[in-house]
Amino acid sequence: MTMVTANLRPTKVLVSKQAITHNIQQALARLDDKTRLFAVVKADAYGHGLLNVAKIAQEAGASGFCVAVLEEGLALRAAHFTLPILVLGIVPPEMAPIAAVHDIALPVGDQEWMQQADRELAATPDVPALKIHLAVDSGMGRIGFREPDVIKQAAEFAEQCATLDVEGIFTHFATADEADSSYFDEQSQHFNAMLAALPKRPRYVHVANSATSMWHTATHSDMVRFGITMYGLNPSGRALTSPYELQPAMQVVSKLSFSKLLPKGAAISYGATYHAKQAEWIGTVPMGYADGWQRRLQGFHVLVDGQVCEIVGRVCMDQFMIRLPHEYPAGTDVVLVGKSGDQEITLQDVADYADTIHYEIACGLTERVPRVVID
Ligand SMILES: *Cc1c(COP(=O)(O)O)cnc(C)c1O
Repeated sequence: MTMVTANLRPTKVLVSKQAITHNIQQALARLDDKTRLFAVVKADAYGHGLLNVAKIAQEAGASGFCVAVLEEGLALRAAHFTLPILVLGIVPPEMAPIAAVHDIALPVGDQEWMQQADRELAATPDVPALKIHLAVDSGMGRIGFREPDVIKQAAEFAEQCATLDVEGIFTHFATADEADSSYFDEQSQHFNAMLAALPKRPRYVHVANSATSMWHTATHSDMVRFGITMYGLNPSGRALTSPYELQPAMQVVSKLSFSKLLPKGAAISYGATYHAKQAEWIGTVPMGYADGWQRRLQGFHVLVDGQVCEIVGRVCMDQFMIRLPHEYPAGTDVVLVGKSGDQEITLQDVADYADTIHYEIACGLTERVPRVVID
């Protein structure tokens, strides 16, 4: 089951090495010396391309990587990355030996998981101890321990297991990107009580995603899990101002595959929902919802030669149509995300129109669109 990458089509995701490097360096400059930055490269580096982004992040000073699933960590190891890797989502305990062999740390949210992983590891010859990070559910309601006495008992159990190495403890905030910090503070207090219950402080105590690292700088601890901001996107959307300049790493570009003059009244695309209001130049862009350019983007726009061009008619699976201000031939550049002349379309603009967040637009771009590193 592979989505073929359309390398011969002009539709591309361009990824700026310079922007990612800049964003990481800005973040690093604000961390104290003991705080490490782990680059969050889950979901194909939020749609920017796992291996390329991992390389850029490593060169820019990241000390490790966070991924969502074990397979993403294995892909990094297969590509010979040797920095520490932490999986953020719960992995079946049966997979503990594979993670241990590849030196990939796993999160743990209950003692039962530890007991099962311990049995699996003990039954596997020549496997090193598995690094684990105790997940604390301080109010996100997703994964992790919730009560101090329960985490204390689990940590004590892990201490007795030669198969397990408690390397970290962490939590995740639900509202770090909001101006009102009252819920954040509640979660923070809950986490501190959980940390205090441990028999000893693990090497990595970490609580910060991008938003926390930007707007709650007192809580950096030993590591930040730096995701969306690395890609130059503001975690809060438009709500809070970034403490440093962010450079968006992603552009989405294409070229007109076809262009024609349609007479007044001519219909465009499925359902014939659009009719030319007069004689109109209509261009076809070779990208569609199978590429992650959602159907609901009908009525949004792209840029051609510095001009805003409306997306007319329904977005198809592989193509959509735009209204051009005048004749432009097939082969003309089209900017879907990025700058053209004085105009710019950001992932935030696309997300606003699609009634979602930029995270979802970026990681919704499918494998059919090649990722190309520039500068
Ligand atoms: C995805 C994720 C992050 C990164 O979040 P950003 O908002 O992209 O910085 C950090 N921690 C956990 C647990 C995550 O799941």
